[in-house]
Amino acid sequence: MAPGQEMRSAAERREILKTVYEEARDCTRCALHQTRTQVVFGSGNADAELMFIGEAPGAHEDRMGLPFVGQAGKLLDKLLAEIGMERGDVFVANVLRCRPPDNRDPHPKEIEACQHYLFRTVDLTEPTVVCTLGNFSTKLLRADTTGISRLHGHDEVRVIGSRAVRLYPLYHPAAALYTPSMQETLRTDFQRIPEILEMGPPEQPKALDSLPELADEPVPEPDEEPVSAPFGGAPEPAAQLGLF
Ligand code: URA
Repeated sequence: MAPGQEMRSAAERREILKTVYEEARDCTRCALHQTRTQVVFGSGNADAELMFIGEAPGAHEDRMGLPFVGQAGKLLDKLLAEIGMERGDVFVANVLRCRPPDNRDPHPKEIEACQHYLFRTVDLTEPTVVCTLGNFSTKLLRADTTGISRLHGHDEVRVIGSRAVRLYPLYHPAAALYTPSMQETLRTDFQRIPEILEMGPPEQPKALDSLPELADEPVPEPDEEPVSAPFGGAPEPAAQLGLF
């Protein structure tokens, strides 16, 4: 449990994640909203112990609204099957939620605008192991410029947002598709995932013993709109998160 947080059930966390999805669906934080077909928020088990974070949606993902549904996704599925897992066991997301035109690299401003959704997703899914796929997610989550060729296959404990996870960088499946030696390395690294999951969750950052006293929240007048209600009415079902 992260500092200052109360215990939340998996069902509660999933409901909150749906509200984050509802927020992301209409996101205009960066210019990519002008060219996307739809937001690709992420999909899978919202209580997964294992999470994968890629780079950004491509053309297939942009059309389907789901991450890793093209050739790279097929390789991801195959590697998961080889360790006895499937998509429904894991949660898959990307650094960016919208497709960059012509699949160009994400721009720093886009990464900055979108990272809020990724950190919220990690916080609410509470994974034990987070596999970053390729350079963009590895550099973002390690807050460091060390490249994937130095880091792949080495697990380490890292705090993401308010949560400690076992971070495990891997080559990106799209890069491994056309380079047999990289695919073999990715496969070898993948085989270690069960062992890293076995280690269990790392120790979480210490909760603050005493929180500073906060001034009382002003109580809204009966017919005054509460300022902190970002989602009016009942959220629509998160259809895109089919596997949730
Ligand atoms: N590559 C990614 O990084 N993400 C996807 O969702 C698909 C391909």
